[in-house]
Amino acid sequence: MSRLQPARGTADLLPDSMAKHRLVIDAARTASARYGFQEMATPIFEFSEVFSRPLGESSDIVTKENYSFADRGGEILTLRPENTAGVVRAMISGGLTQSLPLKYFYAGPMFRYERPQKGRMRQFHQVGIEYLGPDDALADAEIIACGARFLASLGVLDDCELHLNSLGDGDSRAAYRAALIAYLETFADQLSDDSKTRLAVNPLRILDSKDAGDRAILQDAPRLHDYLNDVSKAHFTDLTAALDGAGVAWVFDPLLVRGLDYYCHTAFEFVTTSLGAQGTVLGGGRYDGLAEMLGGPKVAGVGWAAGVERLAMLVETASVNNPKVAILTADDGARQAAFCLAEQLRDAGIDIDLPTSGAMGKKLKKADKAGIRTAVIMGSDELAKNTVQLRNLGDGSQQELPLDPDDCSGLAAAIAESLLAP
Ligand code: ATP
Ligand code: MG
Repeated sequence: MSRLQPARGTADLLPDSMAKHRLVIDAARTASARYGFQEMATPIFEFSEVFSRPLGESSDIVTKENYSFADRGGEILTLRPENTAGVVRAMISGGLTQSLPLKYFYAGPMFRYERPQKGRMRQFHQVGIEYLGPDDALADAEIIACGARFLASLGVLDDCELHLNSLGDGDSRAAYRAALIAYLETFADQLSDDSKTRLAVNPLRILDSKDAGDRAILQDAPRLHDYLNDVSKAHFTDLTAALDGAGVAWVFDPLLVRGLDYYCHTAFEFVTTSLGAQGTVLGGGRYDGLAEMLGGPKVAGVGWAAGVERLAMLVETASVNNPKVAILTADDGARQAAFCLAEQLRDAGIDIDLPTSGAMGKKLKKADKAGIRTAVIMGSDELAKNTVQLRNLGDGSQQELPLDPDDCSGLAAAIAESLLAP
């Protein structure tokens, strides 16, 4: 029961963690804007079908991570486990398939019922982009370059490796699927329980298994790459030529798959060695079959999502936005005047902290600790003379300045100047 702890797999974002999250999200927003992606948001819950319909036969495996519930009206809803299906649903619902191509950026919480561990939570946050319309490999190259630019701006790209694979088109995958099943069936009794189930419903997902026994068996499994037809090969060559031309480093990873049936051609992940087992910070791929599986027209798409928590762990520090100016009252006679002045200075664009209690000595100490650089000190004596003391908390120097109750512009200018001093 609730012991006033956050629910398992969730975390509070207090200001220090929030600042890192904000840094990651802002970096993603800036990088994606460089490529013309525009921010949008979909609801946090959707009709469960939005997530279950495209999953098809493998749904029982994948949906076991979903938070689904019936609401009071009996609608079956799911908290979004990822945002691609929601974005494509929004494109269809909004009739936006008339205005392709669409380039969207999003940021927000996602929900998966997983076993919580470092870098793996039940409520976590993603930033991501979706490029809807083009089926050209250069679209894949653009979103990957955008991901690399985003990670570079956070200073983490150098610790990441870009893994790249091709899942081919439907024909290539069907041929490969048959070969993979034939190979894995000879090891059927040695596979992990999850993989045994997957062998029947979604064998490609076994390639993604983290079980050591499964991974050993997979070493000699047939490789998807050997089953790519000419169209699929051409798409991959076009993509890698673009990445090479732009100097985006990548490694071929024949075991990299996206587990769901609607993915095709490009699959990729940026993986860092700095986070242990949860090293994938950004992953994506091409999903040309998704719109149709959701009941819309055929619309090609490619995108990625990145884990904000995992990236925030790699970001050294981010500064919390604290006011640099405080108004401190020396006695109760100055309370009301201090409140008025604080509002006037805020009107003038200055962030103001106004502690409402405590002795002057304590308030000064606290202010200094909180990063306040300049304190406006007001007391009954100063008020009687229509003055305030402006104190530099760095060197302790202090000057008396006139206070005009109707016009704080002179004081605001003096404060701004005091903040410029080193
Ligand atoms: P993993 O293999 O680690 O389970 P995934 O393939 O399920 O990842 P995606 O669905 O591709 O992950 O999501 C994109 C990114 O979101 C991941 O690379 C990761 O950074 C982040 N992510 C996914 N699941 C979680 C989670 N439960 N907690 C925190 N971050 C997550
Ligand atoms: Mg996962």
